[in-house]
Amino acid sequence: MIIKPKVRGFVCVTAHPEGCAAHVQEWIQHVKSQGPIQGGPKKVLVIGSSTGYGLASRISAAFGSGAATIGIFFERPSEEGRPATPGWYNSIAFTRAARAAGLYARNFMGDAFTNEMKQQVVAAIKADLGQVDLVVYSLAAPRRTHPVTGVVHKSCLKPVGTAYTNKTVDTDKGIVSEVTIDPANDTDVADTIAVMGGEDWELWIKALREAGVLAPGAQSVAYSYIGPEVTWAIYKNGTIGLAKNDLERAARAIDAQLKPSGGRAFISVNKALVTQASSAIPVVPLYISILYKIMKAAGTHEGCIEQIYRLFATQMYNGHTPKFDESGRVRVDDWEMRPEIQAAVVKIWPAVTTENLPALTDIAGYREEFLKLFGFGLNGVNYDAETEPHLPME
Ligand code: NAD
Repeated sequence: MIIKPKVRGFVCVTAHPEGCAAHVQEWIQHVKSQGPIQGGPKKVLVIGSSTGYGLASRISAAFGSGAATIGIFFERPSEEGRPATPGWYNSIAFTRAARAAGLYARNFMGDAFTNEMKQQVVAAIKADLGQVDLVVYSLAAPRRTHPVTGVVHKSCLKPVGTAYTNKTVDTDKGIVSEVTIDPANDTDVADTIAVMGGEDWELWIKALREAGVLAPGAQSVAYSYIGPEVTWAIYKNGTIGLAKNDLERAARAIDAQLKPSGGRAFISVNKALVTQASSAIPVVPLYISILYKIMKAAGTHEGCIEQIYRLFATQMYNGHTPKFDESGRVRVDDWEMRPEIQAAVVKIWPAVTTENLPALTDIAGYREEFLKLFGFGLNGVNYDAETEPHLPME
């Protein structure tokens, strides 16, 4: 099959197996080029390990610290005439590379929100690793079936209180327009908290602790975002922000459970980056396009792998302990939030139009990175050649 990108709005419905493998290799090479993480994690569970920040966490642990990794993800395999989702190919590429380097890697494809998945993973840890010393919680999911009630909760990205109007960009067509998003109702808020809040993270830690598979001193981290004022109505103060507040609540509760054995749990606030999750949020892609332009010019631009390697190497391991902000969070969004970077965003924001989008923003860089998520635009990959889309999970 010859596979080309097919972009539909904010998703690409195709993915390139060799391109995804090349992307994974780029991330592995980045970690290797940075050198080993002293005192790093050795046995790691990553929940949401196939793309974005979770994949970066798995790669940093494996190739920065020689860790055995168990990865959980929800991806779609290939079908007749249709390639698999990128996380499917990423996970195969990661697993092959890890095993070739002599590292244990095991995958669980399915719904992380279920009790069954928790029990399967606990059994695998017991059988293969004994215990884990790091649990990364990096899910970005559209829905969750509650394991007790059976109710299906759907998360949404809406403002809370009043409608919100701001600029947004159709990243595919390059059109800047105004978007108005109606406010969430109480059900929207509760549903988004049920999906993207901290309850499931707590259930994971409970299952792992009760089974005795958390090593003494084990750490757990989940990821959040705060961002600039221009996106607060849709992010920080919106439905997703309320869910992230609940994730912070869970971090404190889990931290209290892990502390007695010398461990900790915390939230790392990460930088805004192009991922499948962030491209679906209105307004945010325009902000990211402006941010990339400014941070690249300042020489401080980072991707997922740079962010997570920095988190591990300067906050969690290498003789470091986390430097918490006033709310107990680690901030690897610090370079994004520097006053001079944000001042430059604020200056550009009102001036952006469809006409000047390529000049005032890094929309080209945004698109390039977006396509890379699906394995397109990687050096050394022949996109005109036939490729095998049907790859079994490792
Ligand atoms: P992503 O879409 O790239 O990855 C999500 C992962 O979750 C994938 O591995 C996917 O397979 C997995 N997943 C989804 N539903 C699942 C389910 N039911 N069962 C098992 N696995 C499932 O997302 P991302 O942007 O890397 O986001 C990860 C975390 O980082 C989120 O908490 C997000 O809020 C946070 N974050 C993202 C950004 C950003 O700009 N992208 C910034 C800061 C923080």
